[in-house]
Amino acid sequence: MGQSNYQLFPINSQSTDPLDDADGNVDDYTTVNNRKKNILRWIILAVVLILIIIVIIIIIVVVVNKKKSKEKATILVYNCSENSTGISNRKVLFIIADGIPADVLERAPIPNMKKIQGIGKYKRAYVGGDVGTYSETATISAPGYINLLTGTWGNKHNVYDNKISNPNYNYKNIFRLIKEQQINGTIGIFSTWLDNRVKLIGEGLAQAGNITFDFKFDGYELDLKNFPHDSQSLYINHIDQHVINETVKCITNNGPDASWVYLQYTDDMGHAYGDSLQMLDAINILDQQIGQIYEAIQCRINQHKEEWLLVITTDHGRDIHTGQSHGGQSERERTTWIIMNHNETNNYFENFQPSIVDIMPTMMRFLNMKIPLESEREIDGIPLIGPVSLVKPDLNLSGNNLTIKWKTLNKTGNVKIWLSTTNLFKIGLIDNYTLIGDVSIENEIATFNIEKYVSNFYKIILDGEYNMVNKWISR
Ligand SMILES: [Zn+2]
Repeated sequence: MGQSNYQLFPINSQSTDPLDDADGNVDDYTTVNNRKKNILRWIILAVVLILIIIVIIIIIVVVVNKKKSKEKATILVYNCSENSTGISNRKVLFIIADGIPADVLERAPIPNMKKIQGIGKYKRAYVGGDVGTYSETATISAPGYINLLTGTWGNKHNVYDNKISNPNYNYKNIFRLIKEQQINGTIGIFSTWLDNRVKLIGEGLAQAGNITFDFKFDGYELDLKNFPHDSQSLYINHIDQHVINETVKCITNNGPDASWVYLQYTDDMGHAYGDSLQMLDAINILDQQIGQIYEAIQCRINQHKEEWLLVITTDHGRDIHTGQSHGGQSERERTTWIIMNHNETNNYFENFQPSIVDIMPTMMRFLNMKIPLESEREIDGIPLIGPVSLVKPDLNLSGNNLTIKWKTLNKTGNVKIWLSTTNLFKIGLIDNYTLIGDVSIENEIATFNIEKYVSNFYKIILDGEYNMVNKWISR
């Protein structure tokens, strides 16, 4: 420090002062000195450049590290940057909010559900099958859930009350259909009621396909320690919120391919207070909970480029007089609703009243999953998205003349008409179908003499280009 550069880098060891040059050889000295100066300049320049590069590297490292730690903080909050282990980037989640009549929902404060409707669709729907026919199904909770799960009415799934004593598992639910086709498909259930998993879906039962949920959060009604029962059903409110918390965590972290969220509090308020402020309050709580789920789904959509179909519905309406009971076939008990976050619905959704059995085939179509032919022949629902060839099959048998009618929604292709005189599918066997006609779909009517198919019972399948429908008739 304090020394000149000349002293730091002497050419010879004797002297560096030009005045000390005894021979007066100033020119030589100047040349050498200039060379020294140049070398020093280059050295200084190199050192400065190296320092600048080091500083730039330090700045880059600091900025990158800061960014990384910010991302880590985001992961702690959402943790949805993990890859899901599912079958594709398409996911479905359906919510059954128990016992909310359409007219009540329509006047309730539901900003989150309105937001979802704004992006997608809302429509009044129905439950209960076809009144006065073989498919009529009680407007009760468990039959309602399994209507949705299997896409069939009570004459097939055989659940007519909440005891669920003898469900017919030959009519496969959506989770089983997914697991049987895609062993890596992931499924989740989030629910108050343990019976939903162990009885309706029949998890682990050989006759129900021996499927296992990858994610299950349910049975909290049996946890009297954390959710002590009270006469006001506040514990159900708390359980619903717990169900929501677990759903949000699981969607965020794992994004299952198909999930069922079941929420009960609205039905408890309906039974206790009927059409009331308490019911509207319960729907408002539900709306906030749905908002939480929707946020978790948005997180997956934004961070994983996943596509999610969210379907929200209810299992039945309520009686017109008090709003407390349900189970019958009155208009208000049968009238439900469907909210979807998807706006590309088809002309069936737009022009007809959809039903709870339409939701399962809609979700299967969204997932690009085929329903095996034997199962598809039994499904009572119609997909609400994508093209649909025909709907509303109708049969009339006069002697041996069978008249078949339908409504055409897409004129592409013909309609193949199949007939079976057995119902072996019900007992786990395969029905033998005969092709009795291949007619223009535009006709919307066809008549056949079925004298040679001697039976008191017929199952008819109308097989169009884009969907098939079925109808049964007895003599
Ligand atoms: Zn219910």
